[in-house]
Amino acid sequence: MRQIQPSDITEAVSDLCQRANFELPEDVLGALRAALRQEDSPVAADILGKLIENAAIARDQRIAICQDCGVAVVFAEIGADAHIDGDLQEAIDEGVRRGYEAGYLRKSMVRDPLQRNTNTGDNTPAVVHVRLVPGDSLKLTLAPKGGGSENMSAVWMMVPAEGREGVIRRIVDRITEAGGKPCPPLVLGIGLGGTMEKAALLAKEALLRDIGQPSPLPEVAELEAEILEAVNATGVGPMGLGGRTTALAVHINRHPCHIASLPLALNVQCHAARHVSAVL
Ligand code: SF4
Repeated sequence: MRQIQPSDITEAVSDLCQRANFELPEDVLGALRAALRQEDSPVAADILGKLIENAAIARDQRIAICQDCGVAVVFAEIGADAHIDGDLQEAIDEGVRRGYEAGYLRKSMVRDPLQRNTNTGDNTPAVVHVRLVPGDSLKLTLAPKGGGSENMSAVWMMVPAEGREGVIRRIVDRITEAGGKPCPPLVLGIGLGGTMEKAALLAKEALLRDIGQPSPLPEVAELEAEILEAVNATGVGPMGLGGRTTALAVHINRHPCHIASLPLALNVQCHAARHVSAVL
């Protein structure tokens, strides 16, 4: 059994908070550059160019990609042969506290969801999802999640008769209604199947997949491509000001479900698609 010290977790999370907020992942940048080459609307092309420039400035000057530095969402994959010598949530929260302070990152968490004046002051608590995996290491993935795009997310408990067409229609209608609110171009994480809470988690996890990496299941990859095409045909465009690029990618995670159910979750991610990992 390998021992993992809480202080190492804290240090790793502090570093991840800063790196995630300063460094837009290469796959996202590549997708923005590819979208720029395809845009024929001058306004859309100008916005995409500015997003790429903004990402470069953030990386070079170690400043936040966006003023909304998000909820600190952490995925912790704990090896069954690893032992954490303390409290995982406390160790992660201490890392968030230090990382957001050291990086001058905006603290956005309110203690009471019904009271806006209850900011916790340090962006804690983190939202932590734990999964037990084989091995003796701990993989931590931090995905800061902005409020604007999270607010446009949704879960639907559909009737099975709505089927594939119903899934496409729900997603396209939602993104059309959202317009510029979630700061497009977007990455759409979709959870299809499971139960209500499982679908939501599948959708969130789908956002961690690299852009350009389709589902390994051919029929799911086909559905991803069809939804991407339909969403981009809406013309919402970058920042909702029109254009070809409403979404950069659609990622679907599928799971078996009850014969009477068709759970569908959509987690909307803005262009600041931040996520970074470390292994202890
Ligand atoms: S939705 Fe994304 S890009 Fe828009 S303000 Fe929030 S974090 Fe920033």
